[in-house]
Amino acid sequence: MHEIVLIDGCQDDEPGKVLYGVLTHMGAIVGIIHTDKTAGGLDLDGYAIARGLVRQSYDDVRKQVDAQALVGNIVKDPFVKRQNPNAKIVVLVPESFYANHDGKDLTYVHGGRFSFKGRDIVVMSTNKFYDKKGKFDPMHFGYIMTHELGHLFGAVSNSRRTNTEENLGTHCTNDCVMRQEDGHSRETAHSFGRVGKTFCNQCKTEMRNLHRVR
Ligand SMILES: [Zn+2]
Ligand SMILES: [Zn+2]
Repeated sequence: MHEIVLIDGCQDDEPGKVLYGVLTHMGAIVGIIHTDKTAGGLDLDGYAIARGLVRQSYDDVRKQVDAQALVGNIVKDPFVKRQNPNAKIVVLVPESFYANHDGKDLTYVHGGRFSFKGRDIVVMSTNKFYDKKGKFDPMHFGYIMTHELGHLFGAVSNSRRTNTEENLGTHCTNDCVMRQEDGHSRETAHSFGRVGKTFCNQCKTEMRNLHRVR
């Protein structure tokens, strides 16, 4: 059984609900995923922890969260330290992220999968999944979330990526949610979402074999 600890720092409960849908989908591939929350449930403790993490990782000048600082603060957090060492941590926040990779400044990254100090972590900013009128795009968010959880559960697993930015690392070249982000993820997400397409058979088989699910 897989264990996921969700720390949701969003006031909007829609991203969390979409995430639960994605976890159900993943569970059918990788085996039972146990989460510590109920979909759309109010989790004030988790919310307070997430807000604290954001405060610690926030750049007041840029008005953005430093994604790498956030990951560092997550592994140091007393609540996270109390969790099962094998539990994967997923953190959602509404603030936008920036990250610095190899001296290159990356603004407005949506987050990604990190492996840091023995912890498997996905941090996700929900910021770019809202339009100017504040309308959330569940299909786009679900697509990106599926991609990042794919990394977390070892799709395209010969990559074993530990880097910090979502469009680096090994990706699938099939017609698949694990394709490299090419700047058209919204369009791709909608074309996939309309027909319920996610992982290609190769990526599915890879994850099933990795987690020995038949
Ligand atoms: Zn990726
Ligand atoms: Zn694939």
